[in-house]
Amino acid sequence: MKMNLHSSDFLLRPDRPPPPPNQTSDLLCRDASGDPVVSLCTGTDDLIQGYLFKRSRRKTKTWKRGWYTLKNNQLIYRKSHKEPPLVLFEDLRLCAAKCFEQTERRFCFQLLSVHKSCVLQADSQQGMKLWLEALQGNIDLELQHTQEPALSHTSKVPPGDTPLAGALGVPGNQSCCDCGEPDPRWASINLGITVCIECSGIHRSLGVHLSKVRSLTLDSWEPEQLKLLSLLGNDAINRIYEATCSEQGTNKPHPHSPRAEKEMWIRDKYVEKRFVEKRHSEDVERGTEEAGHALYKGALLGDVVAMAAALSQGAEVNRRQPEEENRTPLMAAAIGGSLPACDYLLNNGANVNHRDQAGRGALHTAVTRGHTGQVCLLLKRGANQYAADERGQDPLAIAVETAHADIVTLLRMARMNEEMRDSEGVFGALGDDETFQDIFRDFSNMASNQPDRLNRRHFRRGEEREEEERE
Ligand SMILES: [Zn+2]
Repeated sequence: MKMNLHSSDFLLRPDRPPPPPNQTSDLLCRDASGDPVVSLCTGTDDLIQGYLFKRSRRKTKTWKRGWYTLKNNQLIYRKSHKEPPLVLFEDLRLCAAKCFEQTERRFCFQLLSVHKSCVLQADSQQGMKLWLEALQGNIDLELQHTQEPALSHTSKVPPGDTPLAGALGVPGNQSCCDCGEPDPRWASINLGITVCIECSGIHRSLGVHLSKVRSLTLDSWEPEQLKLLSLLGNDAINRIYEATCSEQGTNKPHPHSPRAEKEMWIRDKYVEKRFVEKRHSEDVERGTEEAGHALYKGALLGDVVAMAAALSQGAEVNRRQPEEENRTPLMAAAIGGSLPACDYLLNNGANVNHRDQAGRGALHTAVTRGHTGQVCLLLKRGANQYAADERGQDPLAIAVETAHADIVTLLRMARMNEEMRDSEGVFGALGDDETFQDIFRDFSNMASNQPDRLNRRHFRRGEEREEEERE
């Protein structure tokens, strides 16, 4: 967002902060000494620059004045004209900017990234407004740039059906799952929730085994991931993870709570699972075993909320069920045919290649039952398509036997792709070729949005035999 005020006098020079301007303008703010406090530039890469106070992040919370420039997606400052410019925020596309009122100073605003937050003070309401507009404008503008190619590439997705729109359309998802900040732009894909930028940073610090954070505006999303987010969501997850919260007399943080408070809350909630309703709190082992059964059953039925509850109660995601031919929950999901159930387990650490006592993995099972969308997902997540079961059959042989045309195509495509990748040295960079990616994307979209179209497109065995003879 460039503004139409030409003020080349105030451009940041490499050697020193700018001299006072000769001309004045309505949009220009000045401090008591007549220095420009904020200036908007056109015709250069600088978007806005001027003096601001920055609150120190140390306990003392002192405020220091510096000359700030918003340029090339970065916020740069220098403490004095003798010192070289320093980069305060490397990539504003990954930041959020908002007013900040938790201080006795006026005209303050906060800039937040996943890694840090910073409070800055302008010298007037108008100055603050200009900075916020420039920062937010810059963030949005850059987002549009990054999203355009992605959107044109997935032109089959109807307009308005962006990850952000999809995620925020779910009840409870319009405010951060952990602190209630409105308009969250981040999501934890394994928990199935939306969070604000500050909480997303805290989630990230827990490690990917506990929370896998994605941006709803910057990252690309697979259709099945969005589907999962719409089946879980903040309301459902909070019913599970905050079940005994009021009983225990613990208060949830609010958007303006200090970061340390949010951090403690998020750890208590997801790492310690302090507010989850326990099964058999006096007998932990029995509780875990029951939760394991519940996870298996949820996977079979495709009930992801029940699965989320089971995981919160200590179910082990790769636990085998001896009474069910040693199957894991992922194999149960492949029997049931639910794509979100499969995705949910994979996001939460399910091993894609575990096999039951007959040597069948989730891929064999999904192929046998004709669950095309799942086959696609399992292949994407690294399922071994060459693994033979105890009858010596690999997934492709099963697909040919059961005559699932789409699945045969998918498996052959995946095989070809893999072979091309292996022979890259000979044929050049042919791995993951675009046709393959497009076909996979089409199948993924169809499986999530129009599953009926994938229902067992059989072909006659004869055709396949003829085809094989031709080969
Ligand atoms: Zn939050």
